[in-house]
Order: sequence, then structure tokens, then C-alpha cells
Amino acid sequence: MKKLTPMMKQYFEIKEKYKDCILFFRLGDFYEMFFDDAIIASRVLEITLTGRECGFDEKAPMCGVPYHSSNAYISTLIRNGYKVAICEQTEDASKSKGIVKREVVKIISPGTIMDDSILNNKENNYLMSITFNDTSASISYVDISTGDLSCTFIDRSMLYEEIIKVKPTEIIYSSQTTEDRLKLICDQNNIFLNENSTKYYSTDSSILSKYFDESYLLNVGILDKIEIKYSLIGLLNYIYNTQRQVASNINKINYYNSLDYMCLDVFTRRNLELTETLRSKEKKGSLIHVLDKTSTGMGSRLLKKYVDEPLINKASIQERLDLVDELVKDYNLREDISSELKNIYDIERLCGKIAFENINPKEIINLKKSISRIPKIKHIISNSECIHLKKLSEKMDELSDIYNFINDAILDEPSVTLKDGNIIRSSFSDEVRELRDLSKNGTHLIKEIESRERLKTGIKSLKVGFNRVFGYYIEITNSNLKQFELPSEYIRKQTLSNAERFITLELKEIEEKILNAEEKIKELEYQLFLDIRSRIYKNINRIQLVAKVIAKIDVLISLSQVAYENNYCKPTLNTDGNLTIIDGRHPVIEKLINEENFVPNTTNLNTSDCSICIITGPNMAGKSTYMRQVALITLLAHIGSFVPAKEANISIVDRIFTRVGASDDLSQGQSTFMVEMTEVSHILKTATKNSLVILDEVGRGTSTYDGLSLAWSIVEYISNNIGCKTLFATHYHELTVLEKNLSGVKNYSVAVEENGEDIIFLRKIVEGGADKSYGIHVAKLADLPDEIIKRASEILNKLEQSNINHAPHDFSSATIEAAFTKESVVNEQISFYDTNPLLKEIVSLDIVNMTPIEALNTLYKIQGKAKSMEMI
Ligand code: ADP
Ligand code: MG
Repeated sequence: MKKLTPMMKQYFEIKEKYKDCILFFRLGDFYEMFFDDAIIASRVLEITLTGRECGFDEKAPMCGVPYHSSNAYISTLIRNGYKVAICEQTEDASKSKGIVKREVVKIISPGTIMDDSILNNKENNYLMSITFNDTSASISYVDISTGDLSCTFIDRSMLYEEIIKVKPTEIIYSSQTTEDRLKLICDQNNIFLNENSTKYYSTDSSILSKYFDESYLLNVGILDKIEIKYSLIGLLNYIYNTQRQVASNINKINYYNSLDYMCLDVFTRRNLELTETLRSKEKKGSLIHVLDKTSTGMGSRLLKKYVDEPLINKASIQERLDLVDELVKDYNLREDISSELKNIYDIERLCGKIAFENINPKEIINLKKSISRIPKIKHIISNSECIHLKKLSEKMDELSDIYNFINDAILDEPSVTLKDGNIIRSSFSDEVRELRDLSKNGTHLIKEIESRERLKTGIKSLKVGFNRVFGYYIEITNSNLKQFELPSEYIRKQTLSNAERFITLELKEIEEKILNAEEKIKELEYQLFLDIRSRIYKNINRIQLVAKVIAKIDVLISLSQVAYENNYCKPTLNTDGNLTIIDGRHPVIEKLINEENFVPNTTNLNTSDCSICIITGPNMAGKSTYMRQVALITLLAHIGSFVPAKEANISIVDRIFTRVGASDDLSQGQSTFMVEMTEVSHILKTATKNSLVILDEVGRGTSTYDGLSLAWSIVEYISNNIGCKTLFATHYHELTVLEKNLSGVKNYSVAVEENGEDIIFLRKIVEGGADKSYGIHVAKLADLPDEIIKRASEILNKLEQSNINHAPHDFSSATIEAAFTKESVVNEQISFYDTNPLLKEIVSLDIVNMTPIEALNTLYKIQGKAKSMEMI
């Protein structure tokens, strides 16, 4: 076997340590990738795959990207689910003997990326660390671009719900093995899961003290919680190992108990379309799309947090509601604050850039511009009549010292780059001013020389020019050269076709001064900038605190704006279990179909005579819309928002559950009946009497009798054992008899007007159950051919007369039992099969004991008989 070249040997040694990354191996002005990395990268980045001699018989597959434009390529790889390790030359190539030393200086992954072009300013980008314990898990997650860090301790059964709520882009965890469920959740939600990443997940606790004082940790209450501490240590070590830097914008811990928030499971979040739609996964059409009228990225992210984490503490909700109320009532106040907010940049992310030392001068000016708006906002708020708002203003630091500092130091329109000068105000530094004078003066001197030489030589077109090779020169055209005598100090330097260029000693002296001054000034401005940056950095805590208040104000303004524009009302809260919504609307659908066309509906749920509503009505009547609207109004109230209704009195609920029957949910491609039942089982086990449960067509995923029986017994179980507020939409109108048998069950239906074969949907929820399904009417609306509609009506008539539709229309409590005992169902089936000899034959076949050939022959025979029969 041939021997590897020394460089390839070095490559393999490094690659061995970063198997989970695409290795960007620095060679001169390029980052090169080899072998599998090259094959992947050339495909993902659409760049040419070449080969390089590596010592083996065959060339190593290779591709590369230029160093200066590498960011865009790295972003693309990250977006496609890869991690990138940046390997740089760590010594000067000209000074090294043999192979230049190389080292990985940084790892970029979905959870550690800082690039604006990838980060969505309306969403946090969380990196999550999980430490598994026997029955629990500890999680810590951080958005390193904003410094937002949270920790919690959670029961294992709730872990996946918490993951979905936070929706990190990357997860690291402590154990050697990976649960299939974790893998699945990550796959489905586009989360990068670091398997076997124990090498990054160091348990070295010294990292903690780089971020927090011991007394702070003690205060937050996590010092004695070993598991939480380890998930945090794992997280911070991972950041250090990948970034090779302490991310000091992370300086606070939000340690929370997940039980302080309303728990919403995966299906509920999805079904209610809180932050994205079920089908297209787009924001448009989701609740947040209606709610988000924020002006800043910080506000947008906080609003999303509000929606993801509804409160369940009455006092906290009331506080938010009162704040929104004050703003709804004061149009001018809202407008004034809003117009200031619109000029505020993403201060949180700017702080992140300061901490990671990658902020540029222009962004510092953006920070200054943002800070300049704070005193005005504070003034507006503190002078308003609003008591709650006033309190917020007390927390606002005007940061005028930082404003003045930036204003004094940095030009109003500085360069975006760090090393090209044009950053610092002359008034800020004597040295900068002197150098600038010198270089300006030099240019002035050059002009003087030009006019003096013109006079001296008599050549009017003589000019002094500059190029990179020769520096400053005097240029004289050929025709002038013939006519005039040149001074003896002119030294010929370059010949052009129509002119000659000369230099003089004097010119060279001035040139050196000018060029030196320019070089010096660039270096000086760079150093000063670093200094300014680190001085601002010392105040990062203060800036972050103000950013938080701004974000909150932005969210409150947004909620009040939405409430005002869409005619929402302030809900009253209670803890008595009563849920009353007068003329409620679906916040999203009403926007889609024009508010005036939306038919509002009233809801009354309580703990005594109406805790379970059975809602019947034809397809397309509006059942699902109605139930979701009740869930959304309840949820909106819990985040502290006004609600789309004329009046609402909302009982605090601990959880909201929604489940949609399998066949209604087929677009997901994974909803089998089994999944539907698993989810229902989860609801029945977890719901309490303080929960709100929405069941939409549950039981639909199986045959009529099975489905009906299940739906029936589920309602019974909820009524007897849980007592939670429940809305149950069903096309089994047979279920309406439950009203008579169970206390707390009440029938509702969506009204339709029937006119022969036509129906009109009235969209109004009325008391009492529906007595038929109107399937054929709906099909007619859908413009099925007349022939089919007519024939279907005929068949329906016949069926209704025959046994097949012997559905328990009129079950009295006494006959329910009988109707659903096993025998009676079997009997019923047999009597039905008796009506058709072919079916009887099929039922009597002994399939288990048939050979395949026999089965095929039998099937052939049956088909023959069927063909010769006239069905119904
Ligand atoms: P169902 O669940 O009964 O089959 P949906 O709730 O899916 O019916 O409603 C079907 C359509 O009817 C919705 O997409 C919506 O356009 C319209 N709709 C529903 N409720 C209302 C309402 N209250 N006012 C106006 N249109 C409505
Ligand atoms: Mg429906």
C-alpha cells in the first residue's frame, strides 16, 4: 500500500476527532473538503467535485470554497442539517518548516449559528441540553444569539411535550443510547440531534464559574439541584467546545417549573395551528399570524413565547389583561409608542454580537439609534394615566451614558468593515485627528506641487497622479516633452504611448507620509473600535434588561392593536369552572372569510348541567371551527390577550386537549386508528376536571359500529370519571341519546336549512341534536353529477328501510345495554347477512384452512356470482 502524503495524514488526524462535522480544511485562500465530506458538500452546495493526489492509488475526492465567501456556503450546509468544523492554519506558513500546523478553531451547528442570513428574527434559535434521570429529565436551553437561557426539571412523560414547545434547532444529551422516540421527534421537527456526543458533553463544572457567581446560582435555586446543574454544565461546555469562547451575553438563568404554564401536547399545538398551519406548516393562517403586530424582533419572539406558554395563574394573567386594557383604551398612546418602537433594532441580537465580538461599526450605530428612542418611550409611558404601564417605565434605564459614549466615539455613518478606517470621530481621539490632518494635508501638498510645477515648467497640462505600483508621479504628454525643457530633478519612471511619467524626491517624501498616515489610521481606528466595543460590552447586562422591557411593551402594544382592530373584548376570569362566551368567533377563520360573513356563536359550559356538549351536524356545517374557536378563545385569555367575542367569562383551565379523528387527519399520512386511540388514551389518563377537551370526530377511523361504540363509551367515561369541560363533535347522531342518560351532557347541533335536495348552512350552533347526516346534500353542494345524487338518494331510501341502517335511533337507557351486548351485535350481523346469499357464503368460508390455490379459486367463483347479480 502506498503511503499517505504528510498533509493528508494531518487531515485524517483532525478529521478523526470531528467525524460528525463537515471539515473545512484551510489551504491558502480556500477551505477544502475531502472524501465523503467532499461528496456531500459538492452535492449540497452545487460545486464541482475534483480530486487530489493523497498518496493512495486513487485521488481523494475534493471540493473547495473560497475563504472570503465561505459564510454563505456554511449557512447552506447548516440549513441542510450538517455541522461544519472550521480548521485553520494556526502558524505562519512562511515561517514553518514542513507541514503548517492546523487546528479546528470553531464548530458551527444549527444551534450555535450566529449568521443573520440564517437566523429568523421572529423566532429564537435554541440549543437544548438534556440530562436523563430514571423517571425525570433536566433540560437547559439557550439562544446564544440573544443570551436567553432557561432551565427546568421535568417528568419523563412530559419531556417530549416540552421539547416540542421549545422547538430547539439542536439537541445534545448525556446518555450513550438514544431513545427511538427522541430520534423520531427530532426527525419530524427538523431538530439536529447530536448522537453519541459525549465528547462535547463534558461534566467539567468549572465552566459554570465563567458565567455565573456562586451566589447568583444559589439565588436562582439550581446549585443544589444536581441534575439541572449537569444539563446546564453540558450546555455551556458544548458552547465552549464549539465556539472556543465564553458567550457572556448569557448571564441570567430563567429557572422555571413547567407546571406554572398551561401544558399543551404536541397534537393540541398542531391542531389549534398556534404558530403554523397543519398542512403547509406556514405561519400565515396560524394564530400567531393574526396576533403578531409587533415592531421589533424581540417583541415578535416574546409574543411567540406567550403563545407557546399560556399562564395558569389568575393574578399573572389579570396583570397582562389590565395592561392590554389600558393600551386598548388609549389610541394616541399606542400610536406614539408604536412609532418609536418601529425605529428600534434587534437590541438582543446586537448584544449577542457584542459578546461574540462580531459586531461591526454600523451595527453599533444601530444600537445607538435604538437607545436614542428609549427616553421618549419612557417619557410617554411615565406620563400616561395608566398605572400598570407606569410601573413598567420605572424599570427602564435610559442608557444615556452609553448613547453619549457611542455618539462621541463613532461616526454617524461608519464603514461596515473593521479594518478600513472611517469609524472613529476625529474629536474622539487626538491621534486620529492628527493622522487625518496629515493625510488630508498631504493631499493638499500634492495639489500645491502640481500648480507649482506647472508654473516652473510652463506645461499647463502637467498633472500629478497616483497608482499602486509607482505611487505619486508627474505626467507630461509627449507633445509637451518635445516643446519644453524638464527640470533636472525629474526622474523618468514609466513610458506610456502618449506620455511619460516622472517622480521627484520631494514627491516621494510626501507620499510616504500620506501612505503611512493612512495605514496608521486604519490600524488605530481598528484598535480604538475594539476598545469601544469592550467598553460597551461591560454594560451588556444593562442593555439586555432594557431590551426585555422593550420586548414586553412591544408585545402589549401588539395585543392591544389586534384587540382594537378586530373588536375583541376583555375576558373576565374565574376559577369556578364556568366558561361563557357570548358571540364568540374563530380569530383566524373570521379573517379568512371576511369578518362580516362569520357567524358568531355562544358557548356555555359549566360544572353542573352542561360540562359535555355533543355537537352534531352535517359535514362542512362548522363543527370543527366552532370547537377550535372555543379552545382558541380560552387559550387567548390565558396568554393575557383580549378575545374575539362580545363577552367572555373564562374559567382558568390547567390544560387544553384537542384530538381530531383519524380520517379527518389523513393528510398527515401517519394518522392511523391506532394513533388516534393512543392519543385519546393519553387524554383520558391526563385530563383533570379543570381541563378543556376537544374531541373532533373521534372514532371515525374505524367501522361504524366500532366507532360508535367507542365514541359512546368515551363520553360515558369522561362524564363518570373526569368531569372535564368537553366538546365532542360527531357525525354519529345516535350519540345524542346520551343527553338523557348522563348528567351534564347536552346536545347541540349546527343549524342547516333544508329545502328538498338542497341545504343552506346557517353556521349557528343551536340546542338539540341533528337527526341525520345530510351527506348527500353536501355532496350535491360539491357538484357531484346529478345522476349520482339521484341514485344515492334511492339507495339511501332502500338502506333506511332495510336492516343495514338499523342504528340505535331511539335508545332508551334500558335498551342501550342490550343493543350493545356482543350477542345482539352478532345477531344483528347474521340477520343482515341472511338478506344476501353471497355475503352469507363469504362469511361461512374457512379461510384459515384454505390453500392459496383454493382461496384464489373461491374468490374467482364469488366474483363470477357477484357479476351476475344485481346489487340492491
Ligand atoms: P365541519 O367540521 O362541521 O365539517 P368546519 O368547521 O370544517 O365544518 O367548517 C367548514 C367551513 O365552514 C369552514 O372552512 C368555514 O369556511 C365555514 N365556517 C365554519 N364556521 C363558520 C362560521 N361560524 N361562520 C362562517 N363560516 C363558517
Ligand atoms: Mg370537522
